[in-house]
Amino acid sequence: MNVRTRFAPSPTGYLHIGGARTALFSWLYARKMGGAFILRIEDTDRERSTQASVDAILEGMAWLDLGHDEGPFYQTHRFDRYAEVIQQLVDSGHAYRCYCSKEELEQLREGQMARKEKPRYDGRWRDRQDETPPEGVDPVIRFRNPQTGVVDIDDLVRGKITISNEELDDLIIARSDGTPTYNLTVVVDDIDMQVTHVIRGDDHINNTPRQINIMRALGYEPPKFAHLPMILGSDGQRLSKRHGAVSVMQYRDDGFTPQALLNYLVRLGWSNGDQEIFSREEMIELFSLEAVNRAPSAFNTDKLLWLNQHYIKTLPVEELAAQLQWHLQEQKLDVSNGPALADVINAQRERAKTLVEMVAISRYFYEDFADFDPTAVQKQFKADTADNLQTVHDEFAALSEWKAEPIHAALQAACEKLGLKLGKVGPPLRVAVTGAASSPSIDITLELIGRERSLARIQRAVSFIRTIPC
Ligand code: GLU
Repeated sequence: MNVRTRFAPSPTGYLHIGGARTALFSWLYARKMGGAFILRIEDTDRERSTQASVDAILEGMAWLDLGHDEGPFYQTHRFDRYAEVIQQLVDSGHAYRCYCSKEELEQLREGQMARKEKPRYDGRWRDRQDETPPEGVDPVIRFRNPQTGVVDIDDLVRGKITISNEELDDLIIARSDGTPTYNLTVVVDDIDMQVTHVIRGDDHINNTPRQINIMRALGYEPPKFAHLPMILGSDGQRLSKRHGAVSVMQYRDDGFTPQALLNYLVRLGWSNGDQEIFSREEMIELFSLEAVNRAPSAFNTDKLLWLNQHYIKTLPVEELAAQLQWHLQEQKLDVSNGPALADVINAQRERAKTLVEMVAISRYFYEDFADFDPTAVQKQFKADTADNLQTVHDEFAALSEWKAEPIHAALQAACEKLGLKLGKVGPPLRVAVTGAASSPSIDITLELIGRERSLARIQRAVSFIRTIPC
């Protein structure tokens, strides 16, 4: 079988974590099976769908590098096709016009509620198609759901699910203005796009038996279904904005790498033993729908941070540099006048959990800082520090080559002259050239800051310390 999966977001907001996980699993399954991954934009709800949301979804998919093979198909471009299928269902007797007014339906609902019954349409127009319709009512079209029998779903994640047709009422497939409803459009599209596996969130599970019935009425066997468990926040409630960032692009903004987020998402509901780190290739190789958990999975920000740190430490430097560019622009850091970005990344990659942090802690390589960190000043700048730093400065000034090794040797020489250990001279020197108490090893830090900047900063620190009252 030629596997064909689809991701079918409704563009009513950004691409969120749950949607991205659904997209990833559909994409993975298609890639694993050598099949096709289709992107379909379900934009029939014209009031809630926006172009901005479509763009945000496409941007999120591109950032995660979940490329589609076909599409994006827009449902709003397919209204003629839906109208054709609706007519076909009416003509074959699988659908009928219902002339109930809003008030009538409301009355029906109230009566059912009063009797403690589940509110549902009672099929009152099912067998009245020969009657003269009431005037002034634009009918809706309802699907004539079978009244007996069951719908069996062999869900690839949840196993066998059986729903009795008695529980399903005749749902509306076309509104009174003729526009199709969600369950109809999904069925038509899944048929036309020859989707073989519907992989989606389990919030759609109630729609599945209805969609299967419509599909069969159209003469098609339904695709296979895999309903993914929902994602919970750390408090056990369904993941939502309350739990912090849920938009995929917000994670980019916060300094996460797409590799970390993708790796994090694949473990949300799927596992391969106790393995935590998966490259894209490994995900594709190891993924299976059978290994998706049935139980909901909980979002854990600490684990995402841990993964991000892992990828910052291990991604090829060119890849990190490319990602960092966006943050440099965002944080307005011009790196044209300073060390090669790749060298800074290599010096800092063990020290940053996010790319935002990486930019923040690398600023002093490219720009002079305004103030010394007051805590570091208090701890490291003592009465004798000015003289010590002056000795270091002079030793450095005599260097012919500004590289970590000779810098280190000059620093050693200064220490010997001063009769002090490196542990006494290094920390105030670090504050002098970076403004703060932590940085990569001091010789590499100095090399990257560069000769002129380093010497000027040491001199500035000497003057500053001399102004501190002892
Ligand atoms: N458009 C639906 C949603 O965004 C998904 C429909 C489907 O996957 O069948 O929730």
